[in-house]
Amino acid sequence: MPTSAPRWATCTEPSPPANRSGSGTALISVYVVRAAVIAMEYRQLGRSGLRVSELSLGAWVTYGGQVGEDVALECMSAAHDSGVNFFDNAEAYARGNAEIVMGNVIKKLGWRREDIVVSSKVFWGGEGPNDRGLSRKHIFEACRNSIRRLQLDYLDLFFCHRPDPNTPIEETVRAIDDLVHQGKVLYWGTSEWTAADIMRAYGIAMEHDLVPPTMEQPQYNMLHRDRVEKEYVPLYREIGLGTTIWSPLASGLLSGKYNERIPPGSRATLKGYEWLREYIITRQNVDKVKKLQPAAADLGCTMAQLALAWCLRNPNVSTVITGASKREQVDENMEAVDVVPKLTNEVIERLESILGNKPQPDED
Ligand code: NDP
Repeated sequence: MPTSAPRWATCTEPSPPANRSGSGTALISVYVVRAAVIAMEYRQLGRSGLRVSELSLGAWVTYGGQVGEDVALECMSAAHDSGVNFFDNAEAYARGNAEIVMGNVIKKLGWRREDIVVSSKVFWGGEGPNDRGLSRKHIFEACRNSIRRLQLDYLDLFFCHRPDPNTPIEETVRAIDDLVHQGKVLYWGTSEWTAADIMRAYGIAMEHDLVPPTMEQPQYNMLHRDRVEKEYVPLYREIGLGTTIWSPLASGLLSGKYNERIPPGSRATLKGYEWLREYIITRQNVDKVKKLQPAAADLGCTMAQLALAWCLRNPNVSTVITGASKREQVDENMEAVDVVPKLTNEVIERLESILGNKPQPDED
């Protein structure tokens, strides 16, 4: 018996389709995690039939670099125990090593393939002229390599990690359509593409009877909102785009950990991540976090939980991909699901008055 298999609590049947937001699109399952009970919800990935846990876990920075396989195992295990079913990865993370770590952990834990949704992304695969981008050649080879490193037979989700101005979108869409027909990819999507490029890909797919993109993976957090809250809005309606959002804590800043200093061992101290201090841990951003902190205290939660719950409150977010370098962070972050119902309109107004960055609709 795998040590970290979810221990189902009293509610083993899907609950009636009344989710927290009342829209009825999610199933509620309750898991017992030591003393805590996490009521993880499962959201449809856009208009697809796939259900992903509202909180998920990703491998960027951490696996294959910052932490060892033992910590990855603890974190993935804790997340899975809390009801997480989606684990995010990319060929670029630690040059493929993050996929090796995740694949080993999945194997060690003996999870049923049916219980997990695993992704990878193609774009940055190496230094050679054909090791990057979205050509047919690189897409085929990246997919093959990711599947091998993850020790899986197929990827549930496959993302085009960035747009490739040097490859016609039709070549990319046709290549991924082939992978879907070969059974190597179930759903595909984009990451940080413009709405116009996503619509172009969708239009090509419709015109040629190819599989269209299902989801996009954009950055979204209290400090970075425009794309998810404004640019993509027509796409949710018109093509049923799902979103698997990244950096919900702005690389940890929104946990409040950088309010007074840069703690040793934190992401901002890692080699290669010096840019965080220049672009994210700015005085202006830290001041905002300090002003948000009392709102979290009034709700009886941590700043990290408030920031994650704020992302979860957006119904166009299919899943919030968390990151963690320690098991304790996973435990804390998973409890964000309990904070969502506390985000009343009044609380949101209070937060908006501090953030001062709500995207405004374009004037006609
Ligand atoms: P976050 O913004 O949530 O940052 C996660 C980091 O914050 C952790 O590794 C940890 O760093 C710190 N942290 C997390 N929880 C806490 C806590 N409760 N208290 C204090 N510190 C905490 O997410 P990521 O930036 O890691 O992004 C999440 C995932 O999204 C990635 O793993 C990846 O899968 C995906 N992603 C996708 C991208 C894309 O282009 N498609 C780009 C980036 C990410 P530490 O302890 O080291 O300080």
